[in-house]
Order: sequence, then C-alpha cells, then structure tokens
Amino acid sequence: ESAWASVQAAPADKILGLTVLYNNDTNPSKINLGVGAYRDNDGKPWILPSVKAAEQVLAKTETNKEYVPIVGSPKFNELIKKMLYSHDEAGKKLLEDGRVLTAQGISGTGSLRVLGEFVRTFYPKSNKVLVPNPTWANHVAILEKAGLTTSKYSYYDYKTNALDEAGLLNDLASAEPGTVILLHACCHNPTGVDPELEQWDKILDVVSQKQLLPILDMAYQGFRSGSPIDDLAILFKFNKAVVDGKLSNFLLSQSFAKNMGLYGERVGSLSLITAGPEETTRVKSQLEKVIRPLYSSPPSHGSKLVEIILSDDAIYQQWLEDVRVMSDRLVEMRKLLHDKLKNTYKNPLNWDHLLNQKGMFCYTGLKEDQVKRLIEKSVYLTSDGRISIAGIYPANVDNLAKAIHEVTT
Ligand code: PLP
Repeated sequence: ESAWASVQAAPADKILGLTVLYNNDTNPSKINLGVGAYRDNDGKPWILPSVKAAEQVLAKTETNKEYVPIVGSPKFNELIKKMLYSHDEAGKKLLEDGRVLTAQGISGTGSLRVLGEFVRTFYPKSNKVLVPNPTWANHVAILEKAGLTTSKYSYYDYKTNALDEAGLLNDLASAEPGTVILLHACCHNPTGVDPELEQWDKILDVVSQKQLLPILDMAYQGFRSGSPIDDLAILFKFNKAVVDGKLSNFLLSQSFAKNMGLYGERVGSLSLITAGPEETTRVKSQLEKVIRPLYSSPPSHGSKLVEIILSDDAIYQQWLEDVRVMSDRLVEMRKLLHDKLKNTYKNPLNWDHLLNQKGMFCYTGLKEDQVKRLIEKSVYLTSDGRISIAGIYPANVDNLAKAIHEVTT
C-alpha cells in the first residue's frame, strides 16, 4: 500500500479554484477579477520597463550565481534601509542609532513567516497575533504555521463599506498588553480600505498604551498614492513613535511582488527595530539561526534586479514612473466602472466605495448569491465580493458593469 493511501484531498484553494473555472470557461467575453496581479490596458501581464532595463544590466555585469548570505547581500540590505528609512527624520535617526535590522525575505509571504518564527521563538510576552477582520487569507495560515495563535480585530464595516474605526479602537483597547498586532501598511487586502492618517494616530495611541507589538505588512507600497515613497507615510509615524519613546519596537514585512512586478522572483524584505547596535547584532545572529534551516539563503536573481533598480538613478526614476503607470491605470478603471454603473446602466446602489477604496482590490459589497450569478455570466470573483481592479480594462468594462447591474437589480 502506498504511504499516502490515507491522505484526504484538501479543500480547493478559493482563488486557484476560481482560476481553474475561468480557464475552463469557453465564453470569449469571460472576465477574471480573482487574480491579485497587475494587468495592462489589454488585460495582459506586464514586465516593468525598469525591470527589463535592470535585466539587461544584470546580463552584462553578473559574474557569479553564488549563494548570498543568509540575510541577503550587504548591498541589498543597505539599499532596503535607504528605500525605507531615509526619507523621514525619525527613520534617519533609527538608522544612525543602529536600530534597524533588515534581511532579504522570500517576498512578503516568506518575510512574514520568518518574522512569525522569530516572534514565536523570542518574544516572551505573547504568542497571539491580532489580525484584521477580514484579512488576506494566507495571514492566518502563515502565522499559525509559525506556531503563533491568531484572533481577529474589527476592521471593516459591512454596512458602510468603510473602516469600522470605533470597533477597531475598542478591540485594540481591550487586547492583552503585549499582544502582537498585524496591520496592513496600505491598500488593505481584501477591502481596499485604509485608515486615514489621523486614524493611524489614534491606532498608534492605543498600540502605545497597550504596549502592543506591531507587524506592518506592506505588500502594495506605491499603489495607494502612486508613489512608493509617499506610501511610507504610515511607516514614518511608526518610526517617530519609536524615536519619541512611545513604542519600543515594531516589525515590517515588505514585498516587491506587486510594486516591481517581481511576483515569481520572490523578493522582499523584513525589518526589526531594536534598542540599539548591540541588540541589533544579537538579534541578527538569532535571525540567521531562524532562516538557515528554513531555506538556507534567499534567491538571488530578483534581489540583484532590485539592487540595480534601487541604485541606478535612471532606472530608479523609470521604476517610480512604472509604479505611477500601474497605480494611475487602477484609478482610471475604478472611475470607468463607476461611470458605467451609475451613468450608463443607472444602477441604483451607492458605488462611491469603488472610488474611495485604494489599491488593487475593491470590496464590492456583492453578496455570495450575487457572486454566484456573476460567475454564471462568466465574471469570476471570490465569494466575499472582492474584485481585482487589475482585471478590468477598457474592452471588458462595459460587459462587467452590465453583469453587475443585472445581478444587483
Ligand atoms: N500581504 C498581503 C496583504 C498580500 O496581499 C500579499 C499578496 O497577495 C502578500 C502579503 C505577500 O505576497 P508575496 O509573498 O507574493 O510577496
């Protein structure tokens, strides 16, 4: 008998299952709004011109494919520090004081897993992480596989399609002191709803009072404002809270999957804010012990591209422009769908959240039975009513608006 004879089939992954249905659909006008990857105005995947340029440089200059250090190359880490912590006074102070430890991670997922393992092993106060309700489905799995427990804090108000500020602040205020809290830095997945800057101040006040340990997850840096630097506004607040002594530490996971389109290259970073240089050295030595048995050292092709993009002035400028192009197109598609629904089809529902929500996703408010009916019309989206704006383009928006109108009236 096979060793695996008793293995039961796992339940189908929600999003991958959707892709299978989409791929098997023979309707030429089918629309895929499940995918969390950028598509251009023709609905095609896009390799950023900055990435193409970096690949040309790399092809000419690369001299080896040796292993990189466990935490990634020194150059990668210097550039990450510069990208994340050199644009605000508090960030610069943290760098100067030797309080920033960074490492290359295997994109956002791998960075979160390493942070989770580190917290579970070395954080004495709590093994529980509060995550927003709802959150990216993989968050709970990543953190729980790292040996942590999770529970939800209020985040989204299903009646107003906006942030449930009171519920959120209330839940944080009643958390056990020292609990870990996961926060989406910008472009919350799946809702597209972020706290405004003054709401972040209130969140930080409670986090500080309760001495919570924040993990910031930044998977969509640049998709909120169109600029990866402007989207660091939230990080600046956390940097300042640490410098002002309101917060002793935080952790950050950052991904280049979306903002450099390096999805399959698996490149990102993690940072830990420490008390100072001596602690940074101690923590780094243990971080290496966490990473080594997981994957030994990170992949180097994508990280070399990132090094080129972040260090070559012209290519860096091209990257900023590329992020702007992606972000602008998503904003355009939000407007176009809104216009079709309200002006062409005269849909009676309020669709303002389509315009107000940020980033790649919109939480439409469509109910499960409406989603089912949309899928029957060859429009594919997850049962929670989340649509990927990246799946909309000028040639399919009319069909999409018509289908949404039909299932909502
Ligand atoms: N965090 C959030 C909220 C995400 O939506 C994603 C990707 O969808 C990630 C992290 C990590 O993605 P990756 O591992 O591809 O960087």
